[in-house]
Amino acid sequence: MIKFEDVGKRYPNGYEGLKHIDLEIEQGEFVAIIGLSGAGKSTLIRTINRMHDVTSGKLTVDGTDVMSLSGKSLRRFRRKVGMIFQSFNLITRTTVINNVLTAFVPDMPWYRSVFGIYNQEEKMKALEALDKVGILDKAFVRADQLSGGQQQRVALARTLAQNPEIILADEPVAALDPVTAKQVMNDFTRINKEMNISILINIHHVDLALKYCSRVIGINAGEIVYDGPAVEVDKEVLNKIYKGGREEHE
Ligand code: ADP
Repeated sequence: MIKFEDVGKRYPNGYEGLKHIDLEIEQGEFVAIIGLSGAGKSTLIRTINRMHDVTSGKLTVDGTDVMSLSGKSLRRFRRKVGMIFQSFNLITRTTVINNVLTAFVPDMPWYRSVFGIYNQEEKMKALEALDKVGILDKAFVRADQLSGGQQQRVALARTLAQNPEIILADEPVAALDPVTAKQVMNDFTRINKEMNISILINIHHVDLALKYCSRVIGINAGEIVYDGPAVEVDKEVLNKIYKGGREEHE
C-alpha cells in the first residue's frame, strides 16, 4: 500500500508543490491523477519513488518510510517501483531487447554492465516482458525503427522486466496519437489486471482517465480536491479540479 500522511513538498525556491496530501492506494489499483498543468500531478507521482523528496509529513510504501531509503536500499526499492515517462527514454540507436535488458544494469557488477554481458535468465526475462506487451517480434529491431506506441511498449517491457509491484506513469500517452494512446492504455489495463501491479498514471486526457481507470484523484494547486470512483466524476467535480485554469479539459 502507498500511504501519504499529511505530506507536503516545498521546492528549494519556496514553492509549495504539494500541500497536506492524505492518500491510501491499495495494491492492484489503477489510479488516474488529473488536473491542470502545474497542479502537482508529476510532483505527486515522483515523490513515490523518491525522484522528488517530500519535505513534510510521512510517505510509506508497504510500511517502508520512503524518506529513510538511501544507497542500496533505495536502489532495491526502485526496482519494485517502475517508472514510465512521456518521452519513453529509450536508447534509440540500439535494439529493443538491449533496451529492455538495461532494466538489469542497476543490479549487475560493473564489468558486466560495461561490456553489456547479460545471462540467460536476464535474456529470458527480457523476452518474456516483450511478449507481455505484444512486441516480441520486434526484439531485434532498432528502437528508432518503431512507432511511438511501440516505443512506449518497449519502455513498459523494460519496467516489467524488473518485476515491479507498482508502476508510476508520468504522462505516458501525451506524445501519442489518440488511437495509439488507447492501445497503450489497454496495455496498462491488462498488466494491472493480470499481474496485480498497482498503476498510477498522470494523464492529461480526462476521457481516457475516466474510461480506463477505476479511481480518479483530482489535484488543484497542490491539493487533492477529488478522490473517488471514475464513474462519479461529473461536471461539478471537473469544475472543481480544473478551477482557476484557462485550459479546456477534454
Ligand atoms: P503537473 O505535473 O501537474 O503539470 P508539476 O508537478 O510538474 O505539475 O509541478 C507543480 C508545480 O511545481 C508547478 O507550478 C511547477 O512550476 C512547480 N515546480 C516543479 N518543479 C519545480 C522545481 N524544481 N522548483 C520549483 N518549482 C517547481
